[in-house]
Amino acid sequence: MENLCRVFFPLEKITVVSKPCGGGTFVYTGVRDTGTGISVTAYVEKDGAKKWRSKALTYDEAADGRETQRSMSVLLFSVLTQMCGFTPKWGILTGVRPVKLYGGIMAKAGKAGAKKYFEEKLLVSKEKTELAADVFENERGILALQTPDSFSLYIGIPFCPTRCAYCSFVSSSVDKTFKLIPAYVELLCSEIKRTGEVAEKLCLKLLSVYVGGGTPTVLTAGQLGQVLDAVRSSFDMSYCMEVTVEAGRPDTVTEEKLYAMKSRGVGRISINPQTMSDDVLTAIGRRHTAAQTVSAFRLARGCGFGNINMDIIAGLPRDDEEGFKHTVDVITDMSPESITVHTLALKRAARLAQEKSGASAAGTQDAGSMIMYADSVLPEKGYIPYYLYRQSRMAGNLENTGWCKPGFENLYNVFIMEEQQTILACGCGAGTKLKDPCSEKLERIFNFKYPYEYINRFNEIIGRKDLVIDFYGKSQQELQGV
Ligand code: SF4
Repeated sequence: MENLCRVFFPLEKITVVSKPCGGGTFVYTGVRDTGTGISVTAYVEKDGAKKWRSKALTYDEAADGRETQRSMSVLLFSVLTQMCGFTPKWGILTGVRPVKLYGGIMAKAGKAGAKKYFEEKLLVSKEKTELAADVFENERGILALQTPDSFSLYIGIPFCPTRCAYCSFVSSSVDKTFKLIPAYVELLCSEIKRTGEVAEKLCLKLLSVYVGGGTPTVLTAGQLGQVLDAVRSSFDMSYCMEVTVEAGRPDTVTEEKLYAMKSRGVGRISINPQTMSDDVLTAIGRRHTAAQTVSAFRLARGCGFGNINMDIIAGLPRDDEEGFKHTVDVITDMSPESITVHTLALKRAARLAQEKSGASAAGTQDAGSMIMYADSVLPEKGYIPYYLYRQSRMAGNLENTGWCKPGFENLYNVFIMEEQQTILACGCGAGTKLKDPCSEKLERIFNFKYPYEYINRFNEIIGRKDLVIDFYGKSQQELQGV
């Protein structure tokens, strides 16, 4: 219920209390035994107005806690949509992975049943239901590439030239942390080597590599080469189907770095404009221009990159529908192999959230229209949606969708999203996700978030690699009934 409230009040501090405490908007949800069944109620007080709805459930219906929770969400959703004048398109869904949920329902109820459940029981709009269904169909072939002994590798480079206004990721001064890069790269290569030893011991097969951040291309060409060489010398690359590097900021892309990546088997890079408006770029604290995006893209094409992704964001401050349409039109004309359309998410720590300027500037309605435009133009230009996820506090409670030309799906993005495969992660802020080969069990091992911690406590990071061996050992024992 708290998450559902957050959909309607993305920037407000939400406090869960057991008794009314007065002041501000107040939401109550509860269940009561009436003697003949269970009554579920949602009640909202906002700006002096009060509205509520109740529903009676039989004891049998209420015995399924999830059904009671769904009924309560539906009631709360209906009261909040009336009071806030806004109908979120994902209905009562607040989770990160709606496509995974869709797949689970489809396995039991079939395609028509899953769509019906999404629209009628979860109140998801028809367009978002169709989007989830399309993504599910498009990612099936990719998920089929996984085997119980396959895994993907993530390498984190937690440095950026400047901090984007909407980012909560790089929180220490970027200029200060730059000094740490040489030491960081050295240790990262050691962690990669140790992870390679673990993968070899467990006979795991590497399917895809993703170097993300941060902005990996803040590294020099030499440092990029050092990291990529460490990967190639530590892992058996014979099963690996893709290596991606997130170039990120166009102003960090140089010919030397592109060749350093190309010559080491990097097939896919991301060059992320976010917007093609210089005004908006300034407002969000990025130091590059739209013209630099075009130059970096052409340079990458010239260096032989035939698989380029570009990220754009709907709902940025100072952007409007016309501006976003311009961005979509310019980017689709450039014809990258994939385009990832994000919706602005305002994390608590981000400067925009602190100033409370982002949400009003973007406006939930605007973000909705922007996404609708992208969703209509991209299929016309030959792109298909192949992965999708959501975050909390997204403008308009929308989603991020990966679109690509058929055949250019990024495996890593699908694997990480659907949680059907182990991801071994190296570097600062990276999270290893272990997937039991024989069940749905997942375990996570997190690395330190900040570079100085990573450097100073590196022995702990290396020590945690044994947990990967323990995990697979236990799963093997369980399989053998030990
Ligand atoms: S490029 Fe990405 S990680 Fe770096 S500051 Fe911007 S949003 Fe954050």
